Amino acid sequence: SSGSDQNDVVIIGGGPGGYVAAIKASQLGLKTTCIEKRGTLGGTCLNVGCIPSKALLHSSHMYHEAKHSFAHHGVKLSSVEVDLPAMLAQKDKAVSNLTRGIEGLFKKNKVNYVKGYGKFVSPSEVSVDTIDGGNTLVKGKHIIVATGSDVKSLPGVTIDEKKIVSSTGALALSEIPKRFVVIGAGYIGLEMGSVWGRLGSEVTVVEFASEIVPTMDAEIRKQFQRSLEKQGMKFKLKTKVVGVDTSGDGVKLALEPAAGGDQTILEADVVLVSAGRTPFTSGLGLDKIGVETDKVGRILVNERFATNVSGVYAIGDVIPGPMLAHKAEEDGVACVEFIAGKVGHVDYDKVPGVVYTNPEVAYVGKTEEQVKALGVEYRVGKFPFMANSRAKAIDNAEGLVKILAEKETDKILGVHIMASNAGELIHEAAIALQYDASSEDIARVCHAHPTMSEAVKEAAMATYDKPIHI
Ligand code: FAD
Repeated sequence: SSGSDQNDVVIIGGGPGGYVAAIKASQLGLKTTCIEKRGTLGGTCLNVGCIPSKALLHSSHMYHEAKHSFAHHGVKLSSVEVDLPAMLAQKDKAVSNLTRGIEGLFKKNKVNYVKGYGKFVSPSEVSVDTIDGGNTLVKGKHIIVATGSDVKSLPGVTIDEKKIVSSTGALALSEIPKRFVVIGAGYIGLEMGSVWGRLGSEVTVVEFASEIVPTMDAEIRKQFQRSLEKQGMKFKLKTKVVGVDTSGDGVKLALEPAAGGDQTILEADVVLVSAGRTPFTSGLGLDKIGVETDKVGRILVNERFATNVSGVYAIGDVIPGPMLAHKAEEDGVACVEFIAGKVGHVDYDKVPGVVYTNPEVAYVGKTEEQVKALGVEYRVGKFPFMANSRAKAIDNAEGLVKILAEKETDKILGVHIMASNAGELIHEAAIALQYDASSEDIARVCHAHPTMSEAVKEAAMATYDKPIHI
């Protein structure tokens, strides 16, 4: 195979980190091979993560709106029901179209694609057990590890992907569970809880910590949790799972207060384990070539994404930093830019985070708690969507924009948005942060009317001066 020729760059893993690095490397004129064991490109994100979850979030939202909101807008339906197989099929089709699309991009950009499990035999050689049962040696001057992450298991909780599921199983349940319990109140748990809750499940979220989504600004988090509770999601915070019994029809979870105390039993039909993700380097042979990892198994790299072994690099979920697809992509581009003799840069403090529930929560930069901890004097500007004309016009006015800026310079430190489309609204804030803009800079930009983006402008006005519409 052409995989055995000398490559400039070999990438192990075809997720958002790996496939983007591969395309970019080829575009920079480097001879590139990407190795992926899954049989399809796109990694966790495309196959069992970002994309299928957003497909189901959208479909379940449509059902929920049809059932609970259409009539209010004067759209009457005689009956609304869920066709779960059709819903899952639309998700699967979206995924397969997109994964094939990346294969097309590989062809277009002349990236060599080897389907199989790669392991290091030396810092410049990867032995691949190919999907068709063969083996091939792939050589490269530079090798990038982009093997991503896997579901973190909980001690004593065995995932069978039927009654006790990971996010992968939760994206493909064959029926709507009556009682859906989520262990772990991170964004994945809340998104999957929202999907099944909208379709009719009673959803309870069990979380060891005292709060949901720990990276979120506390004030926003409080409103967000209240909103989820209003939708029927129940929370058991500061609670640990101490036992699991799957012997009966459903699942019996033994719970205990995190600080210790009396046990209670929580019954479920399906339990989702979403208590974090762990770097995936199994079978890769990192020890063999001496690549350094940290205590939790993440590969250690410098600012050029180089490991301690010359010629070996790592990007994405397998290294420290936010475990997000867009961060993996940025890593991938910067890493191959360095390899090509150019300069790349990724600022992990400016990676936006989005929770795709309804409302969505999106944020970039620092939370108010982080700003306080830094000891800088700051101002806060807020604007509720209740005062935004577009949001009112479409009866979608839950949430707010919150901007934090340094008091002395007005430089924006963090922006937090809760709104139905917060994940789209956040990017003007991301640009502002990237260019060290002040809140006044945003406020003086002409924003189209009527748009929900005007709430960002008004919050910026409220930060250094006064808003108009409240
Ligand atoms: P991965 O996407 O994990 O890709 C690594 C690839 O490497 C895999 O395909 C694997 O098969 C392959 N591989 C591993 N070892 C080998 C080997 N030895 N040989 C060959 N191939 C190998 N992030 C967001 O930004 N937005 C979201 O909305 C979002 N939603 C998510 C929802 C869910 C349910 C989950 C689970 C994750 C979600 N994420 C989301 C996180 C996102 O999926 C990851 O951050 C992202 O996929 C990381 O990209 P990566 O390229 O580093 O690794």
